Amino acid sequence: MDLEEMKKEIGKLVLEKGFYNETKDIPKKLLFAFIELGEASDAWKKGEREEEIAEELIDTIFYVLDTSRLACPSVNMDEMFQRKLQKNRGRPFQYGEGHRSKS
Ligand SMILES: [Mg+2]
Repeated sequence: MDLEEMKKEIGKLVLEKGFYNETKDIPKKLLFAFIELGEASDAWKKGEREEEIAEELIDTIFYVLDTSRLACPSVNMDEMFQRKLQKNRGRPFQYGEGHRSKS
């Protein structure tokens, strides 16, 4: 399943379950994504099983893709992933992490 297919499945789930589904709800969805990242961090710190950590990371992806559905519906997320991957590949080694050598 690619990102666009995941986005469609998430959209169906949102309608089926009556979740927030308007552009005014975008900040809430982004906040929920952060909360899920916090849950993933917490699971890691507590030494939870890998499946627990993975589930929280998937929750994060759900909210991120759900947000993309409302915030940038005309953008193909698979194409954007490829473009961004190429862009990041074009950056120099340790781009933006120069502080490591400044200590
Ligand atoms: Mg969760």
